[in-house]
This record gives sequence, structure tokens and C-alpha cells, in this order.
Amino acid sequence: MDNSPLLEVRAIRKSFRKPDGTELRVLDGVELVLREGEIIGLLGRSGSGKSTLLRLIAGLSRSAAGSIRYLGRPVTGPAPGIAMVFQSFALFPWLTVLQNVQLGLEALGLPQDEIRRRSLAAIDLIGLDGFESAYPRELSGGMRQRVGFARALVVHPNVLLMDEPFSALDVLTAETLRTDFLELWSEGRLPIKGIILVTHNIEEAVLMCDRILVFSTNPGRVVSEIVVELPQPRDRLDARFRDLVERIYVAMTAKPAPGEIRARHEHLPGAGIGTILPRLSSNLLSGLLETVAAPRYNGRADLPAIAAALHMEVDDLFPVAEALQMLRFAIVEGGDIELTAEGKAFAAATLDERKRVFAQHLLAYVPLAAHIRRVLDERESHSAPWSRFSDELEDHMSPAAAEQTMRAVIGWGRYAECFAYHDHAKMFSLENPS
Ligand code: ADP
Ligand code: MG
Repeated sequence: MDNSPLLEVRAIRKSFRKPDGTELRVLDGVELVLREGEIIGLLGRSGSGKSTLLRLIAGLSRSAAGSIRYLGRPVTGPAPGIAMVFQSFALFPWLTVLQNVQLGLEALGLPQDEIRRRSLAAIDLIGLDGFESAYPRELSGGMRQRVGFARALVVHPNVLLMDEPFSALDVLTAETLRTDFLELWSEGRLPIKGIILVTHNIEEAVLMCDRILVFSTNPGRVVSEIVVELPQPRDRLDARFRDLVERIYVAMTAKPAPGEIRARHEHLPGAGIGTILPRLSSNLLSGLLETVAAPRYNGRADLPAIAAALHMEVDDLFPVAEALQMLRFAIVEGGDIELTAEGKAFAAATLDERKRVFAQHLLAYVPLAAHIRRVLDERESHSAPWSRFSDELEDHMSPAAAEQTMRAVIGWGRYAECFAYHDHAKMFSLENPS
């Protein structure tokens, strides 16, 4: 056996063609080496190209430039030694747990008794012993996800790629599965040699990974690497754990060099409506503005400190701060949030003034909101159906992201009274707004 790393990813570039014919560069110059015994975390905001990179490594799509080697050999298609765990699995409802897991082995052409033996072992290993004959509908979400893990592990892959495998589960279920999985890994009981874990959750990355690669967005590239030397099992309350979480915050909110800022604007989707919006209530946004504006912080604060004060997880607070930045009410940088003059004015304003200021910023900085308003202004009926905008969004993002983005802009548009939306009729209108 030579000394080749399990995986070697060099200078990867990947673009997608947008509907207007221009290119969206999703990955640019990505480098990564996975060695035996490692869990590497890929951490980045939604849309930074993490799933795209995993699909390239899995051999499910091809890059425009760069190389991917698995055990020293170029990856040109799905490699037998690489398996993937997804956010959620499409289990076949008419097959039992055992049959669903056996599917993972079918392509390998093994003898039937070997397939059965290995499948039962994988089911047992992942904590589903006794559920071999159950059907997916009889299982909880957490157990269904375990079936997905078993289906990936049963092929005894060298490399396991995991794309946000815990993010569709509730908090407790996710934590149980993480802990079980880490225990199996630490005890050397998993039939795998290395893992790449994609996540947008900083604490999950620090909990599970030996090295964390932080991705930037537009285009995605590795902007920093953080080595986690804490022994397993790790304690989220340990001061060194908290320090690392804080350091990663700083890395994720680092101010890009001027050249990078320009590059970012160049890569914004053509129509300007392709940005995925987070579903955050105006209450949450104004709550954070008020907190940071309070005398105690006087307009500038450390994000983890604010999270503690608000009894929120830093990972939940981060999108709120980012949304305020998108609306130009705050600047997020170096782990701090600082209110802009408008952000301070908002916090000090009356309810009606707040709506007015929010409307101005919404129309100025959220192109989708401006687009909806423009269409409604121009139409004689001053109304338009949901699909008028969701179809357009789906040219830029997945249907689920489009749905979320629509809900987000509706919530903000209603608050700002920029437009109305009728849930029953699924119609936008200018019925009440100013
Ligand atoms: P992440 O997993 O980090 O959230 P993705 O890799 O899913 O990010 O997506 C990165 C970017 O590439 C997004 O802007 C997404 O809309 C775009 N994208 C992903 N897959 C495709 C595709 N098949 N066609 C066009 N654009 C895509
Ligand atoms: Mg993804």
C-alpha cells in the first residue's frame, strides 16, 4: 500500500450556466487532502458550493478544471470506495429496512448470503437491531436517517461523504445520532477510513471534525483551515471548544480584500434576484437591532456575547446578523456586529417610522422585493400570482430554496407594507400598501 492520501482535490473550478447564458462560478481553486483516519469538515453558508464539491468528489459530476484523485487515481465517475450520506434519504416505502439496506450492495454482485450478512451487520452497528423487518413508515425520522447511514456503510467504503446528514432532524435526535456515530468512529468500528462532513453548523463541525475548511461564497473557495486538537468525546461547554467556535466565527465574518469584494459583485446572479433569503421574522431582525443599539453595547458587540445574552445559539444568530447586513442595517466583521447609522436610526424610531425605513432598505437592497413591487406597479390589475416569481427563482435555486425565499420576502414585504400577499388566492397585490 502506498502513501497516497485517500483523496486529493486540486485547483477545482466549477461553474453553472445561468438562464441568461452567463456563468455562475460556484467553486474556484478549491484544494483539499483527506488522509486516513481523518474527519474533515466543510463549513460554509448556504450556496457556497459545498454540495457541488461533494458531488464532484463522488464522481457524480465533472469539474471545469483541476483534479480529484482517490487513492492516487483520477476520479472519472462514481468510485466503488466512496459512499455518500444525504440530508435525507428516499427510502423505498414498500421495502423493509433490511431490503432498503441491501439495495446498497446490489450493484456489487456479491453472493446473496454475503449481502444479507453484511446488511444485518450494518443495521446492527447503526442501532437498528430488531427493526430489520420494519417498513419506513413505521420508523421515526431519526431511525429513517439511520437506515440511510446503514445503506452507505454496508458497501464498506474507504471514504464516506456526508452532506448535512443531521440537519433535517430535530435537535435531540441529531445529537444522539452524532454521538452514536462518533463513538463508533472513535472505537474504529466503522468500516471506513476517512470522512468528509458538509455542514453549515459551526458547533457540529467543532464537535466532529479533526480539520475544518471554511468556505467563502461567490465563488466558493477555502478561506481558512482550522485544526481541532481537542480529544474525543468533546464537550461543547469546554472553554477551548468555545474559543474555537469564536475563532471560526471570526473566520466566517472576515472582511474580504477589496479585490474579493469586486469579484463577489461580479458573480451576483444576473437579474439580481438569485439570492436565497433566510426566513427570519421582522421581529427577530428588529430585536437584534434593538439589543445591539442598547446602551450596554452602544451599537457594536461581539456576536457570541449577544447570543449568550439572548439565550440563542450562535448558529441561529448568525443568519439574523447576515440579514441585517444585507439590508445595510449592520456590518458583520471579525465576529462582531456593528450597526450602521440607519440601523441605529431604526432602533430609535417609532413603529411607523420603522416600517418606512425598512421599506426603503428592502426595496433598495433586496432585488427580489424591488422586482415584485415593480411588476405590481406596472400591471394594470396591480396583482400577480405566486408562480410569477417562484418560477423565476427556480431558474437560480432549488424549489425548496425558492419556496423559502418567497416566504421570506413575503414576510418582509408585509411588514414594510411594500406589497400584500393573499395566502388563499396565492396572489400578490398592492391592496393595502402605501
Ligand atoms: P451549498 O451546498 O454550499 O449550499 P450548492 O453546492 O448546493 O451550495 O450550490 C452552490 C451554488 O450553485 C448555488 O448558487 C446553487 O444555486 C448553484 N447550483 C448548484 N447546482 C446547480 C445546478 N445543477 N445548476 C445550476 N446551478 C446550480
Ligand atoms: Mg448543500
